[in-house]
Amino acid sequence: MAQPQGPEAGYCKASTAALLYAIAGATWILCSDMVLGAWLQDSELLGHAQLGKDLIFVLATALALFMLLRHNHQRHTEHLIQDAAQRTELRMLSQFRESIIDTAHVWINVLDEHGRVTVWNQAAEHITGYGREEVLNHHKIWEWLYPDPDYRAQVYSKVDDMLARDQIVSGFESRIRAKDGTIKIITWNSGRLYDEQGKINGLIAIGRDITEHKRAEKALVERERQLATLMANLPGMAYRCHDEPLWTMKFVSQGCQRLTGHQPEDFVDNQRLSFASIIHQDDREQVASEVALAQAEGRPFAIEYRIRHQDGHDVWVWEQGQAAEIDGTHFLEGILIDISERKRMEQALEQMAIRDPLTGLYNRRELEQQLDAELSTARRYQHTVGLLWIDVDHFKSVNDRFGHLAGDAVLRQLSSLLQEQVRTADYIARYGGEELAIVLPESDSQEALQLAERLCDTVARTPMQIPEHTPINITISVGVATYPTHAATTKALFQAVDQAMYAAKQQGRNRVHLATPAPTNDRHPTESPA
Ligand code: GH3
Ligand code: MG
Ligand code: MG
Repeated sequence: MAQPQGPEAGYCKASTAALLYAIAGATWILCSDMVLGAWLQDSELLGHAQLGKDLIFVLATALALFMLLRHNHQRHTEHLIQDAAQRTELRMLSQFRESIIDTAHVWINVLDEHGRVTVWNQAAEHITGYGREEVLNHHKIWEWLYPDPDYRAQVYSKVDDMLARDQIVSGFESRIRAKDGTIKIITWNSGRLYDEQGKINGLIAIGRDITEHKRAEKALVERERQLATLMANLPGMAYRCHDEPLWTMKFVSQGCQRLTGHQPEDFVDNQRLSFASIIHQDDREQVASEVALAQAEGRPFAIEYRIRHQDGHDVWVWEQGQAAEIDGTHFLEGILIDISERKRMEQALEQMAIRDPLTGLYNRRELEQQLDAELSTARRYQHTVGLLWIDVDHFKSVNDRFGHLAGDAVLRQLSSLLQEQVRTADYIARYGGEELAIVLPESDSQEALQLAERLCDTVARTPMQIPEHTPINITISVGVATYPTHAATTKALFQAVDQAMYAAKQQGRNRVHLATPAPTNDRHPTESPA
């Protein structure tokens, strides 16, 4: 342990040295006098010897004193130099600390044990608008910053509580009123200051102006809330998925439930099923290629396809999306909207364009197109195509007897009856008036004739309902022609079958007539007449 180095230690050392010097001097004088007295008898010689010895003693002690003083002086000078250096260092440190405090970007203030402000840095001036000359050495500032006494009391009590409990205040937020009247939000960290004896002698507080931060945070929360509302009310489903064949979802909006019947979580990370698995089998390839093409061209994609609802029915969706890269991972983001209703209307319109409104059969234009298409397929694959031409016998008299509406009802019943009798591959159309036609793909004259006979019989045997009258029976006359036996083109086939029907009328109606084979050069080279 170091010895105490105070003034008392110095006195103690000095008195010890003086005492030792006195004892050593006295001992030297007494002993040397005794030795010289015993040794020298001659009193004059003794006197000279004593004088010499005393002079030597004085010189020796003077020399020792000189050495001691010189040593002390050197040490003292060294101490003075050291002190000066330390003082300079301390001053620089203190300036450095003050400049750090002053130029810090956070509000720093120090209060003494009476609550008076002793440090008020530039940031504090900047945030509050109060300069240090207005603030230092009193505690009025808190009344200015917290003008509402209740709120001020609350702040004091909260800070006191926190200091009593945790010794420090951390993250405490308060609202101050700056000099220009603006309200600012400050977050505080502060702690007590102690003197060497451990007594509280002040408080240091560091504040950060988080007004802007809070405003941005509030705006963000508001934006998120708006987004959530938007997502929840989207007339469909929004998603973000990995850009890979399973469409592994990372986010699915609530609309998923309405659109697919599945919960959004079912698709997230494919927990219960992948989104790809509910895309209609027939549409998967088209969806994948359209998405890939859009990505290659760096544009959003828009596709219409079917998905399978949980309850088993198909839902038509319109999807618009685009690729997005987030932290190096490739995603697809977009929305899906239920367009089933629109699709139904489109399909209905399509049907209206190709169907006859009275009977629901294909219309004349569609018949011609279908026959054209059938003939070209038949030509390519060397098939035959049958065509029946049906005209109701004496239909005019039905109208005359029961009225036009009854005639319409009969036409509808006849259409349904014929429709029931033909294969799904056969096209049945209303050419006009009470004339119907049936295209029979891959049927030869024999098969066409058999069907025509069967239709004639069935119609003749099936009573037709007339509103408010007893049912009536009608008959039909049917012309039959086939490609390539009777004609090689659509037009020629129509002519051939029309003539055949006319022949059936001529022969007495309620019968079938096969067309006359066309001349050889008008037929397909590989076919022979039936
Ligand atoms: P046939 O064919 O046996 O020679 O005698 P028909 O009385 O049937 O004579 P035709 O085929 O020439 O006349 C067709 C009649 O069909 C004329 C018209 O009154 C009637 N008709 C044509 N289109 C419609 C229709 O859409 N509704 C109704 N109710 N009648 C129609
Ligand atoms: Mg007719
Ligand atoms: Mg007729």
